[in-house]
Amino acid sequence: MPVTPQRVLSVIPPMTQLNTPYPSTAYLTGFLRSQGVSAVQEDLAIALVLRLLSPSGLDEIRAHIETTPAKSRSGNVAAFLENFAAYRASIGPVIAFLQGRDATLAYRICGGTWLPEGSRFDALDAYVDPDGGDPLAWAFGSLGLQDRARHLATLYLNDLADVIREGVDERFEFVRYAESIAMAQATFAPLAAALAAPTNLIDRMLQALTQEALARHQPQVVLISVPFPGTVYAAFRIAQTIKAHDPAITVVLGGGFANTELRELTEPRVFDYFDFITLDDGERPTLALLEHLRGQRGSGRLVRTFLRTEGKVSYVNFPEPDVPFAEVGTPTWDGLPIDRYLSVMDMLNPMHRLWSDGRWNKLTVAHGCYWKKCSFCDVSLDYISRYETANAEILVDRIEAIIAETGQTGFHFVDEAAPPKMLRALAEELLRRQVSITWWGNIRFEKSFTPELCELLAQSGCIAISGGLEVASDRLLKLMQKGVSVDQVARVTHAFAEAGILVHAYLMYGFPTQTVQDTVDALEYVRQLFEAGCIQSGFFHRFACTVHSPVGKNPQDYGIKLLPLPPVSFAKNDIRFIDPTGVDHDELGRALTKALYNFMHGIELERDVRSWFSTRVPRPQVPKNFIARALTQQEPGLR
Ligand code: SF4
Repeated sequence: MPVTPQRVLSVIPPMTQLNTPYPSTAYLTGFLRSQGVSAVQEDLAIALVLRLLSPSGLDEIRAHIETTPAKSRSGNVAAFLENFAAYRASIGPVIAFLQGRDATLAYRICGGTWLPEGSRFDALDAYVDPDGGDPLAWAFGSLGLQDRARHLATLYLNDLADVIREGVDERFEFVRYAESIAMAQATFAPLAAALAAPTNLIDRMLQALTQEALARHQPQVVLISVPFPGTVYAAFRIAQTIKAHDPAITVVLGGGFANTELRELTEPRVFDYFDFITLDDGERPTLALLEHLRGQRGSGRLVRTFLRTEGKVSYVNFPEPDVPFAEVGTPTWDGLPIDRYLSVMDMLNPMHRLWSDGRWNKLTVAHGCYWKKCSFCDVSLDYISRYETANAEILVDRIEAIIAETGQTGFHFVDEAAPPKMLRALAEELLRRQVSITWWGNIRFEKSFTPELCELLAQSGCIAISGGLEVASDRLLKLMQKGVSVDQVARVTHAFAEAGILVHAYLMYGFPTQTVQDTVDALEYVRQLFEAGCIQSGFFHRFACTVHSPVGKNPQDYGIKLLPLPPVSFAKNDIRFIDPTGVDHDELGRALTKALYNFMHGIELERDVRSWFSTRVPRPQVPKNFIARALTQQEPGLR
């Protein structure tokens, strides 16, 4: 039988990140090319942002707003219309500046009169120079002209995002879009209703961008990767546009959202948009699917794939091994506009900005997590549970190939928790080959990160690491099977800091059985860790119970009761629960966030942690010098 050549287009739907492409299409395109498949990719997230944030995009936004009654317009929208000429004149240069193509514009941006200022600029009042001088100059130091301009330009973009949200589409954000209609929605009904609604300006732009991508690439197969709920609505709009354009194009959905939320899918209407949905790593299912589409494999031998047959959804999983991590090939960014991403800077904190500032090549050191025990984590799913490594030679080969392709030497290792043994081998290989890169990534704060290893990692180009301290409480760390203690985290983070590596801590609140006292104590530990220079950045996440985690599977072991879920035909992930402690974690969370924001700016570290809470809370039971004392103690295995 003659084999029909297939052209495969992989697409990132809006919204993901402004500063760098989400890596899934780069991995898949690199892999498919290594298998001889004609594969191309498009990032419609950055394309949509750049179209909206252009002079003609602003014209369209204004035209749309002018069709709405003046009385219904918010203050931000009214201010935008009033200053429209200044916005229209500045948008092109500001975008070029944030793309790194026009550095001298920093002088005008910082001049204070050129950039129109909306309500986001009010945040500048939060910075207070202790000596009474210019607050931004204090925050950035005297040499920070570029950073200062980048921060102001980011506030300007955030003003425009507010205008889009308040004047055009209330679901719009730069890093997620229409998230609530996809996240943990037991039925497809909210999404179906949104997709049946008349299109708005953003929908029409996305449709136009989709049509242009189809015209450019003429694909027979389109793979749409949805990493999280904030990309799902746009993914369905893209699929709808493709099907309207040419129903013969095969449209496939995959990615993190499908892997976590769609495992129990039974809703046939989803297949009006997509022909197939694949779960977990895309390599093997995609190869099987392409063979099927070429007529070389029956549908009963598809791998981890949902499809609709005679009006019913079926799941086919022919047992075939996944492509080993060592053989998935090198990701490619070919076809993505890597010089067009926007380096934005929301936070002045030096560690925090890494997520939004600069374009990082994203790579994994290993597949899955070597620990896979934490009770809040999706340890039953493949992306955590299947731990595989490649040797350091292969990793550095990949790194060299990526540098040769992109010309950029910044790497973000996006492992869930990069294994210390692999990081050591990688660092040694980078140093042996004299490959100079700048890198950062996620780890567990385990004691094998000795001062000697931290020093070696710094020499190999490590500038920052992030890891979970979660609920800073030894009782709860034990309950969550994190395998670390607070004093150990203090020593490990201190070793990183001493090596000149910035440290970000993932923090958590609202874990089962967490009391108010636990929360106050956790904040005190965190305060002391900042004060001792162990961590420079952090983020408090609210604990969410997922059906794939040990807590979700065995709630009785954690003292909670799960609330029954409605019948699920679409997405299933988060599950609500009753915690008999009855603590109001919403209220406590606000205090934690406020305190942490200040700590990250290096201020208010001496303040009694109780004062951050709006209600009366107990005194911390943590000794004032707990962290300082922990740092003087020896860790078995640490020098
Ligand atoms: S939370 Fe991190 S360290 Fe723990 S099992 Fe999950 S990925 Fe591994």
